[in-house]
Amino acid sequence: MRDGLLHLFQQSYQELCLRDPIPQLKVDFFPFTSIKNTIRMREGKLLVRLSDLLEGAPTLVLQAIAHILLAKMYRKPVKHQAAARYRRYISSHDITRQAHLVRQMRGRKRLHSAQGHTYDLEAVFEDLNTRFFHGLLARPQLTWSRSHSRNSLGHYDPAHNAIVVSRIFDHPRVPQYAVDYIVYHEMLHLKHPVRLRGDRRCVHSAEFQAEERLFPQLEEVKRFLRQL
Ligand SMILES: [Zn+2]
Repeated sequence: MRDGLLHLFQQSYQELCLRDPIPQLKVDFFPFTSIKNTIRMREGKLLVRLSDLLEGAPTLVLQAIAHILLAKMYRKPVKHQAAARYRRYISSHDITRQAHLVRQMRGRKRLHSAQGHTYDLEAVFEDLNTRFFHGLLARPQLTWSRSHSRNSLGHYDPAHNAIVVSRIFDHPRVPQYAVDYIVYHEMLHLKHPVRLRGDRRCVHSAEFQAEERLFPQLEEVKRFLRQL
């Protein structure tokens, strides 16, 4: 694929009929927050960055992009066909929607961190890991949920190896033991992966529940959760 891309740029360069041989080229896909492509010359090398949203674009579209970028770089007229092809592809429904989603996700990255206003989930995890797991659990991604969800107080997402805790717990009114408990419960999910027993998913196995009862302030936690 990358070789194919280089070849596309070399071809486009030749079509521009420039006198000098083509400079050394580096083409990468880059996670820009929007669909954009950049080209610059650095120490005699041409550095190209294409939006990673274009990674799956058809060859004809990538060809058009190569032409547009090189024409701009060398101040040559951009072929109408290439400009039209690129515009058409970008405005097609799927890619705009995808770009919108990615922008949302990347834009929210700061909110999507372990450090909340009151509690730092990484510190909570490390403390629990030492106290209850001999420090043996590998730290997954830890994030506060985006919304103040009451339906899901916490969950472990195996697909992303992430523990997500509802943002309602990130508040000075919430006692430390409540946050600890939510994270502890999800850490038990890490330790006891969901098993299939017969055709029934066994989420909270007997071992899981026995270990959960080891949490010291379980009664206080339950009282606190009831009044949420
Ligand atoms: Zn659970």
